[in-house]
Amino acid sequence: MKYPIFILILFLIQPAGAALAQNTEYSVVPVLLYHRLGLSVTDAMTVRTAVFAAQLAYLKLHDYTVIPLRHLTDYLAGKTTQLPARAVVICADDGHESVYTALFPLIRRYHVPVTLFIYPSAISNASYALTWQQLHEMQDSGLVDIQSHSYWHPNFKKEKVRLGKDAYEKFVRVQLVQSKSVLEKQFGKPVDMLAWPFGIYDDELIRAASAAGYVAAFTIERRAVSHTDNVMALPRFLMTDQVQFEKLLAASPSKASP
Ligand SMILES: [Zn+2]
Repeated sequence: MKYPIFILILFLIQPAGAALAQNTEYSVVPVLLYHRLGLSVTDAMTVRTAVFAAQLAYLKLHDYTVIPLRHLTDYLAGKTTQLPARAVVICADDGHESVYTALFPLIRRYHVPVTLFIYPSAISNASYALTWQQLHEMQDSGLVDIQSHSYWHPNFKKEKVRLGKDAYEKFVRVQLVQSKSVLEKQFGKPVDMLAWPFGIYDDELIRAASAAGYVAAFTIERRAVSHTDNVMALPRFLMTDQVQFEKLLAASPSKASP
């Protein structure tokens, strides 16, 4: 009887060992952060539409897989044990109208998922911003996930200096909770990911975001996401028109071996 038990133990150990190996193999994933697309570069946050199109073509040609941001956060939370080889994530912050006019047609053509971080006060309000209707149309495509970028994109560092302790705490709570609830009501889906406005965060803000129900939050530190990162301060590459795309991807291999 001893021999079959030994076999059984081997059988039970094997899958856990395999899962561990996969975890180590795909431990680094670059998250690319865009803001605006345009025919020409009018400011530091604009990437020419042709440049973005070329980047999508490059990803496809070189067998990268653009995964939904949720797949990465689920993976970091241990909810899934596998990511595709050469995984990359695409985000766009701020809800600029070019996300609809220029980025959306391209992600549809290449069929890649994108997460938009939106601050609701601007939507259907500011002249440069998306409308609610455009956001709904993009979400309905199944390629676009809409998450929170606070309610009106404040600079929390400045507000902390300007407001007293209690007023600041309340201000932070409103910015985090109101954005989440407005977006959830609009789109009927959970909003539990946050992009820190201007990439500004600290321990106090992280505690407030967790209390508001966010399970992951994102900064603008220029490196790929790895297992050692704080899930409430995950890095993203801020994309400009000058970014050397191939170098960026080469510096953050999403798979240890080809
Ligand atoms: Zn922003």
